[in-house]
Amino acid sequence: MVSDPASSAALAQCPYCGVGCGLELKAPAEPGGLWTARGDRHHPSSLGQVCIKGATVGETLHPNRLTTPLWRARIDQPFEPISWERAFTILVERIEATLATKGPQALAIYGSGQFLSEDYYAANKLLKGALGSNNFDANSRLCMSSAVAGYARSFGSDGPPCCYDDLDLADLVLLIGTNTAECHPVLFQRLLKRRRKGAGPRLVVVDPRATATSDAADLHLAIAPGTDLALLCGLGHLLLERRGVDRAFVAAHTEGFAELETLWWAWQPTRTAAVCGIAEADLRQLADWWIASQAALSLWSMGVNQSREGTATVAGICNLHLVSGQIGRPGAGPFSLTGQPNAMGGREVGGLAQLLPGYRSVDDPAHRAEVERHWGFAAGSISPEPGLAVWPQIEAMERGELDLWWVAATNPLVSLPSLDRVRAAVANCPLVVLSEAYAGTETEALTHLVLPAAQWSEKAGVMVNSERRVTLCSAFRQPPGEARADWAIFAELGRRLGFEAQFGWPDAAAVYAEFVALTTGRLCDSSGLSHGLLAEHGPQQWPFPAGTAPGGGSARLYVDLAFPTPSGKARLWADPPLGLAEPPCDSYPLVLTVGRLLGHWHTMTRTAHVARALKAHPEPLLEVHPSDAARAGLADGALALVRSRRGAVSVKVQITERIRPGTVFLPMHWGASQGELACEANRLMHELGCPISKQPELKAAAVALTPA
Ligand code: SF4
Repeated sequence: MVSDPASSAALAQCPYCGVGCGLELKAPAEPGGLWTARGDRHHPSSLGQVCIKGATVGETLHPNRLTTPLWRARIDQPFEPISWERAFTILVERIEATLATKGPQALAIYGSGQFLSEDYYAANKLLKGALGSNNFDANSRLCMSSAVAGYARSFGSDGPPCCYDDLDLADLVLLIGTNTAECHPVLFQRLLKRRRKGAGPRLVVVDPRATATSDAADLHLAIAPGTDLALLCGLGHLLLERRGVDRAFVAAHTEGFAELETLWWAWQPTRTAAVCGIAEADLRQLADWWIASQAALSLWSMGVNQSREGTATVAGICNLHLVSGQIGRPGAGPFSLTGQPNAMGGREVGGLAQLLPGYRSVDDPAHRAEVERHWGFAAGSISPEPGLAVWPQIEAMERGELDLWWVAATNPLVSLPSLDRVRAAVANCPLVVLSEAYAGTETEALTHLVLPAAQWSEKAGVMVNSERRVTLCSAFRQPPGEARADWAIFAELGRRLGFEAQFGWPDAAAVYAEFVALTTGRLCDSSGLSHGLLAEHGPQQWPFPAGTAPGGGSARLYVDLAFPTPSGKARLWADPPLGLAEPPCDSYPLVLTVGRLLGHWHTMTRTAHVARALKAHPEPLLEVHPSDAARAGLADGALALVRSRRGAVSVKVQITERIRPGTVFLPMHWGASQGELACEANRLMHELGCPISKQPELKAAAVALTPA
């Protein structure tokens, strides 16, 4: 590994969570040393703040990197290093053979919120445009596809309406299904800083666990898992009862109120409190504060999204803001926090199986025609059928219907639910390709062709954070060995498949220019942005139409209360709460919920190399309430066997009153590659998910607990 001698310092967005803090990177003083990172004081999203992950990212750039393509015809063989020439030959031959025999539906790509926007764009153009398959999905499916679907249902389009300044302007912040203190720490510190100055806001946390987030709250509603939507309905009931509904706003700017009113009246406070397992007084307190609030902000992440009713719950949050007029003005609105650094960018470039660039849909004939023209493909090239989301991709492999599954910049053999079933399905796919920066991931074990990928810091490109702020991440280090940027790999393959004109970009800036031209007139209009402008003027928020002056993007959406629906009004949804897809029963009496820890990142491909992270979280621990531990005969520190209908894991017990009785918690980070610490939490989880967003209910599964 060598540093690029041309770069001694660089600016970039942090490559971990969707807060998207600005980082200032400094080159090592000695050859072979580590790059150091600190907060970029000039980045408007983070103002110099950074957490442990961003601060230690320099330690993760060197170790354990893939440097050359690797190939094996069967997964029980060892890998052999091969040239890129051979790798592309294999890909071209196998793709052409599949097209000739099974057709494009037998091809699928599973990408990542770690992609830069240019990577996403090139992959989508290749699969959806050149090859005619919409089977491009991304790990954002596991993270925030319910937010995408919920926004689109309520407002007519995806797109978070708020910005981080709203954290400073709200007088009430509802944190529902988010452990913000650990998963989006810089935003949480911003809230705490305000509170330390005595300037509010009130914090209400909705979470079955007591967390570092709830420790700081004025009110913690420790609801039973799977009752978020019931809670929102009960809150709505109290808004109706207590004249908390802004009838003029509802009449002018929404539709569907009559049905919602009927639903909410059925959720009396006593019923809601009983279903949610909370005190009725606490529900009434939240309602009091909501009604009194001049600016209420709701923040959520995977605790809401990873649910069989994820889309309905997002709509439930939007309902509350709409009926009380708490949207489109400073400090107010529903605000999803993205888990990954560029999940937002992925949404904009069409990085899910039902999407096309510019917040377009594959099932809209006009959208397909616009994109086909822009991409330079014949009319009808893009399939009208939404592609396979990731779990249907797994099911297609089980049935032998996929010939090629290409995984890029993600590690699904840790992050998907029902991992034993996933392993068997992937082993049934004739060609598994993995574009990856790091060697030895759990997914690599089932891969035939490994392509070494240049990662963040080694390729230029754009990331977009949760507040729609676009940051150009510069290439300030050389990729190791023969590693290549993902967009360049997809472009090279496109040219070799005969699409020279469509994939002839000279650099990432040209890819980005082609993408932003496709956003003109869309809600996410970024047509005024370019690598050049971002390099010169720094990060910018979209919408940023052509001609916008630097700094002139919109901080908030819907300030004119005109929504991109056919009527121009937002839509209220009356979805009845359904509860968990797999409720506890006599055989599996507990609910397992999973989550993340402050120092670690997803499947630990990076943070397993960070000494501070390992010291802070040396091993996975199962949080168990004392009453459940006593019933199972488990002492603190004992080894427990956690069983679900899909498998079992052994893990050390931490007895704590910070978890609800009847619920246990495991971190999801430690996959099979972590040796004796391996604890595959997602092996236990089920694949049932939201029928609208196709997001699996990774937050809850029924389990039983015994001594191991
Ligand atoms: Fe990176 Fe998120 Fe930490 Fe900011 S809060 S430094 S984006 S991990």
